[in-house]
Amino acid sequence: MESEAIKRSLEAGGLRCTPQRYAVMAFLTKHASHPTAAEIFEAVNRVDPRSSRATTYNNLRDLVHAGLVREVAVEGRAARFDVKGMRHHHFICDRCGDVEDIEWYDVPRPASASLGKRVLRECELIFRGLCTKCAPKRASR
Ligand SMILES: [Zn+2]
Ligand SMILES: [Zn+2]
Repeated sequence: MESEAIKRSLEAGGLRCTPQRYAVMAFLTKHASHPTAAEIFEAVNRVDPRSSRATTYNNLRDLVHAGLVREVAVEGRAARFDVKGMRHHHFICDRCGDVEDIEWYDVPRPASASLGKRVLRECELIFRGLCTKCAPKRASR
């Protein structure tokens, strides 16, 4: 995403483009590795030491609420974040907690009877198992 595109997406999300918000979006755009809030703070702080941890975390929360950033909950570990652009599902490794993108395909909606009065916004899948690094290597003999 170019800097203009980041500014436009912040505006579209109803957020003012502050240097700190911009830095969070720029970092997430460049790093598709699903960083944690702490990793994002470290990176943003390295570029601009004036941005505090609280500001970074608040900006991250604003970006999630505005629908620009997705929070991927990993139980027992810190949540991970990525930019909502291309829709995708996620794969979370049981062993190392790595979060990887899985190519998008449509997920069937639940029957309206089981939804009741709930309003469905989106539906995405989380696959769990062992990532390539953690999967047992097949014996090559
Ligand atoms: Zn793993
Ligand atoms: Zn992702």
